[in-house]
Amino acid sequence: MAFQLPDLNYDYNALEPYIDAQTMEIHYTKHHGGYTSKLNDAIKDSELENKTIEDILKDVSKYSAGVRNNGGGFYNHKLFWDIMSGSGGGQPSGDLLETINKDFGSFDKLKEKFNTTAATRFGSGWAWLINQNGKLVVASTPNQDNPLMDVAEVKGTPILGLDVWEHAYYLKYQNRRPEYIDAFWNVIDWDQVAKRFV
Ligand code: MN
Repeated sequence: MAFQLPDLNYDYNALEPYIDAQTMEIHYTKHHGGYTSKLNDAIKDSELENKTIEDILKDVSKYSAGVRNNGGGFYNHKLFWDIMSGSGGGQPSGDLLETINKDFGSFDKLKEKFNTTAATRFGSGWAWLINQNGKLVVASTPNQDNPLMDVAEVKGTPILGLDVWEHAYYLKYQNRRPEYIDAFWNVIDWDQVAKRFV
């Protein structure tokens, strides 16, 4: 069974002014769409057609570069769209906030660490907030890798992710990646992040 491009649950302009509509449309239709169709090409007529994306990623070192790059791209963008909202921003609450305070010292300390990690990822990749059996850590991955992959340096379940490929911000922010990273905090949907943390 082929993978389908997941629905985007808001309009292309929903995250304005932080993420512009043109970037969203190209990013979703061309980039996420491209990873989805290339993933399907890469698994065609193999046993992987019957696996979930999570099952594929956890053993990804066994498969082709096409499966690694496009399987990661397929998964990562779905997570990215889902943890953002036009009514996002603010701070998390409840268990998630308590765990952030415990593992980072404060929400602001988490923000600082995440921003530095995202800004210093050389070239293309992602910054993540990762759940390791109840402990939260921040890490980044190159290209379309992610913490579910057996090849990841830091493993766990990603609950928040930021795409720092230039295609995610260049139209609006050009080379100013740190401004895009700062803007991201205004569109994070903490209810969605908390659901992934449970
Ligand atoms: Mn992307």
